[in-house]
Amino acid sequence: MKFYGSTNGITMESENIFTAELEFEHDALLGEGPIWDWRTGSLCWVDIEGFAVHRYDPETRNHKIIDVGQYVGSIAIRRSGGLIAALKSGFASLDPDTGEIENIADAESHLPGNRFNDGKCDPAGRFWAGSLALDEKERDGKANLYYLDVDCSVHLMKSGVTISNGLAWTRDERTMYYIDSQTQRVVAYDYDSISGDISHPRTVIEVNALEKGWPDGMAIDEEGMLWVAHWDGGHVCRWNPHTGAELAEIRVPVSRPTSSVFGGEDFDTLYITTARTGLEPEMLARQPLAGSIFKCRPGVRGLPMNEFGG
Ligand code: ZN
Repeated sequence: MKFYGSTNGITMESENIFTAELEFEHDALLGEGPIWDWRTGSLCWVDIEGFAVHRYDPETRNHKIIDVGQYVGSIAIRRSGGLIAALKSGFASLDPDTGEIENIADAESHLPGNRFNDGKCDPAGRFWAGSLALDEKERDGKANLYYLDVDCSVHLMKSGVTISNGLAWTRDERTMYYIDSQTQRVVAYDYDSISGDISHPRTVIEVNALEKGWPDGMAIDEEGMLWVAHWDGGHVCRWNPHTGAELAEIRVPVSRPTSSVFGGEDFDTLYITTARTGLEPEMLARQPLAGSIFKCRPGVRGLPMNEFGG
């Protein structure tokens, strides 16, 4: 189905509803943070609670699990080779071929109850990653958002966060989008690519989590629209950050999609990660594909992801 969405209509039309297809069946506990590694034509993602990084080639269906032995919140491509990762023990480089990990800097050694969550690189090559408290009942405001600069210094960019998620930057490199899932909002910041500073936060999308699920990871497309995974909502929705309107919906046959990334040779396929964690046995029985990778070609392309420059 072709996507003909206009970017100013508030009403979602039926042709803007898609159904995701199964790409790779797996039982990840908390599949998250997908990246498209154009160097190898592969999709990589993390299983945060499975302590693993996955690499998968959609063409050959070759799949590799890299055991990292600890929570791994997110990964990104590293310009000098391999990946950069936000591990429980801090920022580290990861060689996906050998599994070798080299620690770089620990941002939260003083907060042993936290772990890293979603992360992504900005247009200048800094690796941004936020955290969350492992104890769900003691989570409010305990987390932070950092970036690892290309010189490997760590910068605290935002505190008082609850569940750090969903980073994206606009093509003109002037705006950063951010999600603290707890707030049920996507927030835009003015972003300075030279200094890395963010300022002037404003809410651009409001999500009713009880109706639509909690906003989690996000991808940006070539038109500057945001594809937000809705945890407990069973869909990834396309939102217009200029109007706050929902434009399209991809239905996923599991309740906990977590994030998405545009990949494939032309960046025209949206790959979606999902989770099994926290689902009761009877819920899991109704969604046996929870934890798998899904895909959809919504008729709009994404852009290559930014790389870590250090
Ligand atoms: Zn997430």
